[in-house]
Amino acid sequence: MIQSNILLLFFLFMIACTPKPDVSFNGIEVEQNLVITNSNENEYVYFRFPNNFIVVDSLINKELNKISRKINYSNILNIEDSSSTNKIKSFFVNNNQHPYILHKISLSDTLNQVIYKIDSSRINLLKQNFFYPKIVNQKENDSLDKFNYIKTNQLLFPCPNIDIPQSLNLLPNAPRKYRSGTHQGIDFAGYYGSEVRNVYNGVVIRSDHHYNEVSNEFRNNLLNKASKINRTPSDIFVNILYGRTVMIDHGFDIIKDKRIISIYAHLSKINPEIKVGEYISRGAIIGNVGNSGTSDGAKGNKKSAHLHFELIIQDKDGERYLGKNIYGEELVKLLNRIFSHK
Ligand SMILES: [Zn+2]
Repeated sequence: MIQSNILLLFFLFMIACTPKPDVSFNGIEVEQNLVITNSNENEYVYFRFPNNFIVVDSLINKELNKISRKINYSNILNIEDSSSTNKIKSFFVNNNQHPYILHKISLSDTLNQVIYKIDSSRINLLKQNFFYPKIVNQKENDSLDKFNYIKTNQLLFPCPNIDIPQSLNLLPNAPRKYRSGTHQGIDFAGYYGSEVRNVYNGVVIRSDHHYNEVSNEFRNNLLNKASKINRTPSDIFVNILYGRTVMIDHGFDIIKDKRIISIYAHLSKINPEIKVGEYISRGAIIGNVGNSGTSDGAKGNKKSAHLHFELIIQDKDGERYLGKNIYGEELVKLLNRIFSHK
């Protein structure tokens, strides 16, 4: 009994005398002299270790995470606001991150040194996000109408058997250099004289039964004026470039807090029954594809005929066209989702 007690004491003595590892990482005990020095301002952290020491990034990150909990962000940002500094601190802690970036590595025959520095630009960016969250959110909401409120297959394709065009140049947001503007609609590739249909129940609010084509010279003069102000003025766009046009007001039927209208432009003919103030149902024949309002229309030929179709959405935030600020595959997906041939 006494002997075993002596043995136990001997073992305890041996354990106490064994040098403790400085740090341990992932079960691997690092026994070499890793010296971590941290300046008062927390701006620099120095790691010094013998040159045969293998530096493990995760080990350094772990140390930096520990140190970053003690950073005085009020000094770094020169602000008193404790709620923002606490948010910044908890951001790093909760995401298991630290605000340091590698600053310098110096190697010598015996001692290596790695210096990390506070990444103040990252801290400042976080500060801005915490100070102005409302402005950031509002901007995102304004530009990011995903048009999810338009149901799948809710709208009828305006040209029978003609799909959404493949070319992005024929879709919303494509640049239109000739008029110093941006395409707001979809150019459906219907041939001259082919039928155009109403996409959704609504009331006619424009129907150009007495349309007269303008001369190409007059049209070009207007485009010159547009180029001088580097945009397409709404009067030139709506009164001249649309050509022979029908507009349908779908009211608040598609979604209760948004007024939606559809526009059918460059028509060659309009159905005599399409009169302003009349209610027309989804699928009603509006008229025929043409090129009125285009340069070919002004020259009197039948080239480049197509249906220019637009869907305009209006609400308390303003007015935008279907597909605005949505690009590439996402745009094509959206348009294919909402239109149906039936
Ligand atoms: Zn167009």
